[in-house]
Amino acid sequence: AVKATQVHKAFGDLHVLKGIDMEVMPGTVTVILGPSGSGKSTFLRLINQLETLTGGSIEVDGELIGYKHVNRAGEDVLQTLNDKEMARQREKLGMVFQRFNLFPHRTVLQNVMEAPVHVAKVPKKQAREEALKELERVGMGDRANYYPMQLSGGQQQRVAIARALAMKPKIMLFDEPTSALDPELVGEVLAVMRSLADAGMTMIVVTHEIGFAREVADQIVFMDGGVVVEHGGAEIIEHPQEPRFQDFLSHVL
Ligand code: ATP
Ligand code: MG
Repeated sequence: AVKATQVHKAFGDLHVLKGIDMEVMPGTVTVILGPSGSGKSTFLRLINQLETLTGGSIEVDGELIGYKHVNRAGEDVLQTLNDKEMARQREKLGMVFQRFNLFPHRTVLQNVMEAPVHVAKVPKKQAREEALKELERVGMGDRANYYPMQLSGGQQQRVAIARALAMKPKIMLFDEPTSALDPELVGEVLAVMRSLADAGMTMIVVTHEIGFAREVADQIVFMDGGVVVEHGGAEIIEHPQEPRFQDFLSHVL
């Protein structure tokens, strides 16, 4: 699970997140919606510890990964994890980005085996078997020996999902996984994400795919201007209360 409490993030004078509260229960899908620049990617990057928060706290899988508090001398201190703790926490998270980021000079299978072998120190034979299983799961079992450039964007993105799954994450983070794809390739990636959700994976998904949000999300969070403007179950897409959310939906639907 992930629990964010009054999370703030500033880059110098630019105050990007202004007190985000969010709770993601195990086995649920949270979809984050919001206009460009509202801080969605920044929020995912805080969870993944690619950025450090400047206020509030974030808990991942029961452990505080960062929090601001006042010490006994009355000073504001930012508590974060040390490198070892951070690495251990990151292994719980699988991340899939807009761009596929596969290694171009390695085959599909080598891409998926890379982290299990080199980071998790799984024996090669076992890593290979598990990688093939993950590739089957995303419908790419027959492309194991292809190179990324021999695949369509949708296929590459499915490999990227398999690669994240190969590390057996507890939580998957998706940052606009289909927005760089040609429209006809979006469906196959969403289908894989849906099957992951059906299998009980905890997921946080930033996307503009409203249909996916409506059908798969347990929780919808609409962010704008660094705050959560509205949140609720999938039904809030049909019945948005806040004018800003209504306006956003009228533009993406
Ligand atoms: P999009 O839908 O376009 O992906 P987003 O909601 O993901 O937008 P973010 O990428 O989180 O938005 O960016 C929020 C704001 O923070 C933007 O104004 C952006 O320029 C700024 N920002 C993000 N990362 C940094 C950084 N490393 N340094 C300075 N500013 C940053
Ligand atoms: Mg973004």
